Amino acid sequence: MPVVDTNVLIHGRGEISDKILIVPGVPEEVESDGAANVLSNLDYEVQEPDESILEDVKEKSDDINSPTSEVDEKLLALALECSLPLLTDDKALQNLALYTDVEIRGFLDDPIEEKFRWQERCSNCGSEVSSPPCPRCGSRQVSQKQVRCS
Ligand SMILES: [Zn+2]
Repeated sequence: MPVVDTNVLIHGRGEISDKILIVPGVPEEVESDGAANVLSNLDYEVQEPDESILEDVKEKSDDINSPTSEVDEKLLALALECSLPLLTDDKALQNLALYTDVEIRGFLDDPIEEKFRWQERCSNCGSEVSSPPCPRCGSRQVSQKQVRCS
């Protein structure tokens, strides 16, 4: 029984046969994509992850400036809590999962194997910025750059 990401539900219509676990927020995302019928054909359970596990995941996410959403992080926390694999094609979510003990499964693609993080950099001078403005040139424009973790 995997924990399943919204995108997999939307793009994998009809190809999921196991019972699955999702978190609050996923049914809303599926519905807003106009794919509400997907859930009606699935055997699924909605479960809120443990608060302290979710906090750990959020902390890790902040460490690497992960662009993952609240729902993404709940999915990962739930997979972690229940020792279940996480089925997702979202590279950012796969990446965050690499920092935990969760087993990741790709759906359409193979999952990534290399960890990376995001750095905020000044768009003007390229300095690393933790929060705007840039300490070197004062610019408020920052962009996110993906860097490999060693
Ligand atoms: Zn700058």
